Amino acid sequence: MTVRTNWRELAACLDADPDLFFPIGTSGAALRQIDEAKRICRICQARVQCLAWALDNGVADGVWGGTTEYERRVIRRSASSMRGPRPEPKCGGRDVPIVEHNAEPARRWSAANYWP
Ligand code: SF4
Repeated sequence: MTVRTNWRELAACLDADPDLFFPIGTSGAALRQIDEAKRICRICQARVQCLAWALDNGVADGVWGGTTEYERRVIRRSASSMRGPRPEPKCGGRDVPIVEHNAEPARRWSAANYWP
């Protein structure tokens, strides 16, 4: 029995034309390529893992997990706004410096609730 450990082995795009997933431009032929890439993503068993990987790694270009660069930005922004207000620092009544972490893990979004 073979156990698959890498989500990429399940990718529906393994044999697809890579140009579909990395269209140049945002109109005409590029839109048709994006639609075709998304059609392939819709049937992909690795869709959730693929999108998670793209979000976690800040991948800007291309269609990943059925999303475009713009759609991933919206997901990231939405996840950031869902974090809510920052809790008051408590440390013996003293102010504690808040350390900003730019590498916010993209784990707060729910891929299962995203796709239309
Ligand atoms: S979700 Fe789309 S881009 Fe990601 S592995 Fe599957 S087919 Fe490829």
